[in-house]
Amino acid sequence: MDYEIAKIAKVTGKCPACEDYAEKNTTNPPKIAVMACEGACARGEVARRAANLIAHRLARDQTVRICLGGAFTKDTGQRNLVRKADKVIAIEGCFMNCSSRMMAGVIPELQPEIVRADLIYNLDLPFGIDEVSDEMFTVYAYKVAEQVVKDYVESATCCGNPEAESFCAGSGCTPNRSGGCGP
Ligand code: SF4
Repeated sequence: MDYEIAKIAKVTGKCPACEDYAEKNTTNPPKIAVMACEGACARGEVARRAANLIAHRLARDQTVRICLGGAFTKDTGQRNLVRKADKVIAIEGCFMNCSSRMMAGVIPELQPEIVRADLIYNLDLPFGIDEVSDEMFTVYAYKVAEQVVKDYVESATCCGNPEAESFCAGSGCTPNRSGGCGP
């Protein structure tokens, strides 16, 4: 394997909003960490929006949103959320898999669930976000977010056995009002 070697200048300050959010969401057991590639192009925009929908709307009790820049460039609360999570979901805009490759550089043992957003909405989007309407970004992002919740969040919290957990259906979980599995 060939590697890019990067030196990242250390900073003494911390982003208070980032750290407060990380502290509030440092739970035991840990929440599922959701990061996105955050690319500037339309594909990155879908990945970013999908990650936000998952962590702030569809599965807010089970997941925590990771600030990729914060987690990658400094060893503070955001990186700890990734390090301690039993499961990390990396939503990638395209085959370059930037978020998972970046975080593997600072947490070598990391093994995230890599989700290729472009393969879910299945379109070849342009670079410029001005070439895609806000409505269509929402459609694509919801499609990705709902698929991720179904495949990686609900399946992580549901045993599928109605005899063991009253909220489980025989074929899988019964989502609760917050979109997760549970009573
Ligand atoms: S994964 Fe693709 S869309 Fe996302 S930042 Fe990397 S190159 Fe851009």
